[in-house]
Amino acid sequence: MSAAVKLEDVRVTLGEDFPEIRASVRRICANFPGAYWRDLETHGAYPAEFVKALTEAGYLAALIPEEYGGTGLPLRAAAVILEEIHASGCNAGACHAQMYIMGTLLRHGSADQKARYLPPIARGKLRLQAFAVTEPTTGTDTTKLKTRAVRDGDHYVIHGQKVWTSRALHSDLMLLLARTTPLDQVKKKTEGLSVFLLDIGACRGKGLEIKPLAAMVNHNTTEVFFDGARVPAENLIGEEGKGFRYILDGINAERILVSSEAIGDARWFTKTAVAYAKQRIVFDRPIGQNQGIQFPIARAHAETEAADLLLRKAAALFEAGLPCGDDANMAKMLAADASWHAGEACMQTHGGFGYAREYDVERKWRETRLLQIAPISTNLVLAYIGEHILGMPRSY
Ligand SMILES: Cc1cc2nc3c(=O)[nH]c(=O)nc-3n(C[C@H](O)[C@H](O)[C@H](O)COP(=O)(O)OP(=O)(O)OC[C@H]3O[C@@H](n4cnc5c(N)ncnc54)[C@H](O)[C@@H]3O)c2cc1C
Repeated sequence: MSAAVKLEDVRVTLGEDFPEIRASVRRICANFPGAYWRDLETHGAYPAEFVKALTEAGYLAALIPEEYGGTGLPLRAAAVILEEIHASGCNAGACHAQMYIMGTLLRHGSADQKARYLPPIARGKLRLQAFAVTEPTTGTDTTKLKTRAVRDGDHYVIHGQKVWTSRALHSDLMLLLARTTPLDQVKKKTEGLSVFLLDIGACRGKGLEIKPLAAMVNHNTTEVFFDGARVPAENLIGEEGKGFRYILDGINAERILVSSEAIGDARWFTKTAVAYAKQRIVFDRPIGQNQGIQFPIARAHAETEAADLLLRKAAALFEAGLPCGDDANMAKMLAADASWHAGEACMQTHGGFGYAREYDVERKWRETRLLQIAPISTNLVLAYIGEHILGMPRSY
């Protein structure tokens, strides 16, 4: 759609939109029950079969245009895919980044880069799953990141360190944000950062080391060390020094997609809590008859419905080419809150059995807690609302 669309012409679809996609994703997920995810966690393993099934069904290529072999679906369809994965008790963390990382290549890559990489990514022959932005010493203050990329002939030489680079050991390519002009030599701190498409296989052992990072959730996350890794200059995405803007360009899509995972989690928690509350008898009555059990579940359900509406609005604005940052950020925060409250209610409803691994409640509870911190923490969303929507002074 063109940017000429007026706000009042934007339509939000209610109910179970994209019903065929929902039904198909549910069918795939039914083959990957809780026992599958529990077993993976025990071994810290990657859900290769699950990712393969989604790839073969074309879902990981949902946002790749048809001309590059993808399915060219709207962002809302991708959101529905992720929502259904999470509502089914599965977790899309193993592969969701491919959906939004790819957008940077699509929007800012050269014709040659797109022709070279997008078709094999769409076919599942090449995995673009790793997104290396966060660093151990600078955290959310992204423009201060210290990883350097220095031009040397027809290559860039990389030195530095990343942390929480998820899926780096299960990806062929890594989208890397590094500083090409030192911070003290740029007018604005957002300048001088560049994005590279790094071939992990070609660099490993040659100035690139990847170490698994044990974490509370099975996110296959890693620490990445660069000590002279060489990236061909042709793998620079867009213009040198403009990388921060390219990453920001993709952030609204990321917020919308992550919100939909939170909505899916919230729906799983609510459904699971309601079923248990109706069936568990204590003091000769179902525990769901007690307001102390029933009301937190009811409240979380209402919060989920509200967050879902804002998420749908953000996705509709995105699709219409209208500014959607405010709604995408607020949807992310509200959806993460709704899923966390639903998770808490589900955990409490299950009593001691909430801690039993076979119920999957504790796993989903740990997984959904992450959304308060990554990919952006709740405080930083509140800072955005305070400053950019409400016009208060910048708080940091
Ligand atoms: C499992 C997992 C997977 C991840 N995967 C990836 C990945 O694939 N790629 C990647 O690049 N990153 C990834 N991350 C990193 C994630 O995006 C960061 O952890 C997150 O952005 C927060 O950054 P930080 O951990 O450095 O926290 P910090 O920036 O150190 O912040 C710590 C706390 O202080 C708060 N805070 C900081 N500044 C302010 C302020 N001015 N006002 C109020 N509060 C403030 C924050 O909200 C936060 O709660 C992952 C993280 C985890 C845990």
